Amino acid sequence: MGYIRGEAREQVTMFPVTLDELIPADHVCRVIEAYVDRLPVARLGFERSEPAVTGRPGYDPRDLLKLYLYGYMNQVRSSRRLEAECQRNVEVMWLLARLRPDHKSIAEFRRLHGEAVTEAGAELVRFARSVGLVRGELVAVDGSKFRTVSSAQRVRERDAVKRYLEQLDAADEQDEWVIDPSAVAAALEKLKQDPEPEARFMRTTDGKRPAYNVQTAVDSEHGIIIAQQVTTEANDERSLLPMAQAAKEALGNPESLNVVADAGYSNGEQAEGCEQQGIAPHVPANRGVNNQGDGTQFAATEFEYDEKTDTFRCPAQQTLRRRQEQRDRKRVLYQAGAEVCGACPLKAQCTNTKQRYVYRHRHEAALQRMQQRATAEMMRLRRCVVEHPFAALKYHIFGHPRFLLRGVAGAQTEMSLATLVYNLKRMWKVMGGAALRAALAG
Ligand code: SF4
Repeated sequence: MGYIRGEAREQVTMFPVTLDELIPADHVCRVIEAYVDRLPVARLGFERSEPAVTGRPGYDPRDLLKLYLYGYMNQVRSSRRLEAECQRNVEVMWLLARLRPDHKSIAEFRRLHGEAVTEAGAELVRFARSVGLVRGELVAVDGSKFRTVSSAQRVRERDAVKRYLEQLDAADEQDEWVIDPSAVAAALEKLKQDPEPEARFMRTTDGKRPAYNVQTAVDSEHGIIIAQQVTTEANDERSLLPMAQAAKEALGNPESLNVVADAGYSNGEQAEGCEQQGIAPHVPANRGVNNQGDGTQFAATEFEYDEKTDTFRCPAQQTLRRRQEQRDRKRVLYQAGAEVCGACPLKAQCTNTKQRYVYRHRHEAALQRMQQRATAEMMRLRRCVVEHPFAALKYHIFGHPRFLLRGVAGAQTEMSLATLVYNLKRMWKVMGGAALRAALAG
């Protein structure tokens, strides 16, 4: 028995196969091309959108955008690997008409065009609205952590240097130490060299790691991400209003909008802000919002409020009574008393100070309305909408949830590219390649 044999490499064919014949009509490359070709690149802020009249011609930004979209769609994010794909991948050869940009040109394009890529993503959402793929009736807001480029060790070292400088400051004020100026200069230099000063430890699925918190607003109709933002917020408590506003803007500012999120977004002041702008938040109310120890100690949710007695019960079953109304900070303060906390066996898990304080929002009415809207059915719907996008972004597009570019700006560029690709894939899945391509070209 023989083997199945391929063609002889040296064989000459009378009618050579063209690159175009190798790419099927409904292939995603054709969708990418149709999408990029309809973009008003100059208006969106892509540089070199017009060909140079004199000097060495540069690459058309459309070509490099196509390359990145193809790359992110296939978990190829590094500029060096994209350069290699240009030389060996038939689909990329088709997409770029056999251009072979070097990795420096590829990286430079991404470095320069963070905002333009974000705008291009907004343009795709507008298109999705125009073909009825985004309804804008219900939007789910959710956040997830993506690791920074900076390692835990680097961020720990940086934090240690910061603490050292703070201690020196304090000692200087009290005239306690004679400070060595060369040590201070060395510490300052070390801080200056930190390429990612925004990186900070956050709770991730792998424990505490340097990360950014990526916020998304997802339309419930087909799971299309209509707004996204990379933040340095360790939790979601302050992201309800900004994300709801971003979603509303992406939807063309409708008169009303329903936004659903989990209890981590509970924020009375922001709930009121949403209502004032015609946005109805559906969020389980989390009245005590003063978590301590950056998430390492008892969360405020672990303190149970009793409306009848207007007191809280803590994890040690002690009663925290109302002590003070802080009008300027829109909250009421509750405490058990220093002697009670001082004798508590759980104190280390609760507070680093003499006693634990718990606050209750003064925006109680807005919190209650928000709570009433957060029905079990609404929360079930929320889970269905938010489950898919982050799993797809992390494991199908990124490959692993870690950024390649440093700083919030770099992370934002990567997330804008990844979201764009996610939305293109969603639309491709819902409409089919040929129909989406035809609609984009129309
Ligand atoms: S430290 Fe105070 S508030 Fe915290 S669990 Fe103990 S008694 Fe309760």
